[in-house]
Amino acid sequence: MSKQSDIPVAAWPVRIVAWFEKANRPMPWRENPSPYRVWISEIMLQQTQVATVIPYFERFLQRFPNVQTLAAADLQDVLRLWEGLGYYSRARNLHKAAREVMTARVGRLPETYDEWIALPGIGAYAAAAIASIAFGEPVPSVDGNVLRVCARLWGLRDPIRDPKVVNLVREKLRPLIGRVNPSHFNQALMETGALVCRPRNPDCAACILCPDCAAHRAGLVEVIPVLRPAPPVPHYDVAVGVIWKTGRILIARREDDRMLGGLWEFPGGKQQGDESLEQTVRREVREETGLRVRVGEPYATVRHAYSHFRITLTAFRCEWKTGQPTPRTSVELKWIRPGDLRLYPFPRANRRIGDLVMHEAAGKRRRSRTEAEGGS
Ligand code: SF4
Repeated sequence: MSKQSDIPVAAWPVRIVAWFEKANRPMPWRENPSPYRVWISEIMLQQTQVATVIPYFERFLQRFPNVQTLAAADLQDVLRLWEGLGYYSRARNLHKAAREVMTARVGRLPETYDEWIALPGIGAYAAAAIASIAFGEPVPSVDGNVLRVCARLWGLRDPIRDPKVVNLVREKLRPLIGRVNPSHFNQALMETGALVCRPRNPDCAACILCPDCAAHRAGLVEVIPVLRPAPPVPHYDVAVGVIWKTGRILIARREDDRMLGGLWEFPGGKQQGDESLEQTVRREVREETGLRVRVGEPYATVRHAYSHFRITLTAFRCEWKTGQPTPRTSVELKWIRPGDLRLYPFPRANRRIGDLVMHEAAGKRRRSRTEAEGGS
């Protein structure tokens, strides 16, 4: 990576762009920044690190190389490819936006900030990032990294997530971005936030902004950015049932407009009052599917953290007793073979249970084949 001393002295926007042009990390979407590739990458990169995104991006582009193929795809296939990346509304909105591009815009992708922000799932940050990177429009994209860098650079002491601080940063950047390459300017600020001006232990000695940085000058790099204290994260105990009937198990598809919408799961829910987890699973299965089940041994307990809460999920082996599956809180219920679990998109905690069920079922099949061969 090029150092501060390699770059000639100039106004900081010129310096940071020169630094970025030497120091930027290779990323698949940077090799060929077509509007479609930039769009997909910017949506995937929201709340997600570059190293996590790269394999998802490559698989996604292989399967859906353009807006036409994405629009024509089944949402379930899009969610299946997205599985594990989290924040699934991003995938649902991408799919919805692709369809809108094909119908309302006859397949022509937007070009300007105003056109991009009109699509589903595109906020101010993504619209600015795509319009500047793919089309060179001089509009600042302000994400968490950029906010942190600018708060330190200008010595801003208000909490950086306040909308008025976000607006202030955007307005202060607006007259600067038009003087340099807008794509490289936005990416340079993001890259500085990711690599140099990190939340903890920023590398001020290597930072191209150091001569202009108010926080560094005032010895406030550990104080800025100011963050509001995060609210406590609630925890829930959840019980789900892996319900068996004649070699098949029951799965439920969540409603599209809920959290994890469109994904599949095992029926179940939160423990209430002083009920036991076995009572929870019996009640939840009845409420969600209309079935009565015999609750057996737990398969496993898994812990998972979402953005605003954490769960401890215990999955029980259940046997169907009576009733026809009737979706009451989901959109669809389906009896499937355990070996077909991989065909459906599942949230991470349910996937871990599904993998256990699949391996156990495969092990049983192997054992019974061996016994049959041994006995013949
Ligand atoms: S000098 Fe330090 S605090 Fe200032 S922008 Fe650079 S890395 Fe961040």
